[in-house]
Amino acid sequence: MRLKNKIALITGAGSGIGRATAQCFAAEGAIVIAADINQAEALITQELIERVGGKCQALQVDVSQEAQVKDAIAKTVSIYGRLDLMHNNAGISIIKPMIEITEADLDRLIGINFKGVFFGCKHAIAQMSQQKKGIIINTASELALVGQPLYSAYCGTKGAVVAMTRALSAEWSAQGIRINALCPGPIDTPMLRAEFDLATDPKAEAQAAINSIPAGNLGTAEDIAKVALFLASDDAQFVHGAAIVADGGKTTI
Ligand code: NAP
Repeated sequence: MRLKNKIALITGAGSGIGRATAQCFAAEGAIVIAADINQAEALITQELIERVGGKCQALQVDVSQEAQVKDAIAKTVSIYGRLDLMHNNAGISIIKPMIEITEADLDRLIGINFKGVFFGCKHAIAQMSQQKKGIIINTASELALVGQPLYSAYCGTKGAVVAMTRALSAEWSAQGIRINALCPGPIDTPMLRAEFDLATDPKAEAQAAINSIPAGNLGTAEDIAKVALFLASDDAQFVHGAAIVADGGKTTI
């Protein structure tokens, strides 16, 4: 019970890494606000957690809309009195040759992957600075650190998340707010499966991804949830402004 009674808001909690992290945090005693643009899937996360005796409240939030992010945090604080953990995890991918990426694609990617994380940090910090305590985890990607064909815009947004995380950590560490980025490698979630399905041979695409990972397998959402748990726990009390990579060694080769 490393997060007993901690109030944790997780975005993108209706699927993949966010859902697994919501389940993991709740199993460790946190009261989880499972925020997602997809209300039905957020409710399923709530049900999965409640079924095993955990505490969770689903909330529909589009992280690209600042007012909605602000409102989600205000609601959390009005119900629970504080916000201990903010995991800015919601994200999307747009995989295309650079010259085919439209301005609308770029606006959507930046709106969710960068502005969404920025708004989450901004409004969490507004609350946490009053508490003089708080922990923020921003989901970036190993693609913030290495390149990959067809991912130029996605890589740009994830690199921005890592850079912003460092800057925010420098700004707020002394005020008791610990902020880190988490950089997963290829993780077997609906997002990655949808990316494989874009290829002419999705099975071969999945195998190529596996071949790029020294560990020899895709990561699971639970693998990343456990790293998020470490960052959310007091075990990580001296970890500030870091970009923690969990990628089966993909970025080492
Ligand atoms: P996922 O399974 O697609 O889950 C992402 C969730 O976020 C979905 O429920 C999605 O809803 C939701 N979402 C999308 N736009 C949103 C918005 N504007 N506001 C609130 N929620 C929104 O993806 P995942 O693989 O778990 O990815 C989670 C995070 O990890 C993302 O930031 C991703 O970039 C990052 N990541 C993933 C991998 C990987 O290999 N899977 C690797 C590195 C980093 P809809 O399904 O309705 O869109």
